Amino acid sequence: MTGSFLAAPHGKLPADSHRRAVVKLDDGSDVAYRDVRRFGTWLVLEDYELDEYLAARLGEEPLDARFTTGRLAQRLAGRRAPVKAALLDQRTVAGLGNIYVDEALWYAGVHPFRPAGGLDADDVAAVHRAIRRALRIGIKRQGATLSDYRTPNGGRGRMQDEFKVYGRAGEPCLRCGTLLEKTRVAGRGTSYCPGCQR
Ligand SMILES: [Zn+2]
Repeated sequence: MTGSFLAAPHGKLPADSHRRAVVKLDDGSDVAYRDVRRFGTWLVLEDYELDEYLAARLGEEPLDARFTTGRLAQRLAGRRAPVKAALLDQRTVAGLGNIYVDEALWYAGVHPFRPAGGLDADDVAAVHRAIRRALRIGIKRQGATLSDYRTPNGGRGRMQDEFKVYGRAGEPCLRCGTLLEKTRVAGRGTSYCPGCQR
């Protein structure tokens, strides 16, 4: 959240009071880590420690071949938590934040309050496809610059122009025309369409 990386040739990084770390690469260039709200964590691990560390904390990478519909179904099975909360849990699938969960559930046509374990096979398949779709669009647009997010070369992301539900409460749904609503799930602002997210 509000963290970013900036890459630059050695000695060319602009001053930044929110810079927390700089990594020097073998080619002599610098990668700076900016973390305004200090939510980030850095650990120095040996290669052989990495898999175990990540496996205990994170589910599959959503764009990795190992993240299958079956795997997602396993992770959601039996859970009473709202599907929105289950998808924010990084052990379900890695790297999904608030915006992309809302966008994915809209693409899937699944209501954020639905108990995660109550989704049928078609719903899970739709959510699986939708997660990848939302993330691929986000990557293509280089993320969303809502306040101060910057890409590694200092540019602005354009994902904010692609949002289907996030930040659009009160506006008509692009699929069915119903006015989008905003509520809270798992303590997070949640936008959805009461018309076509079942
Ligand atoms: Zn709708």
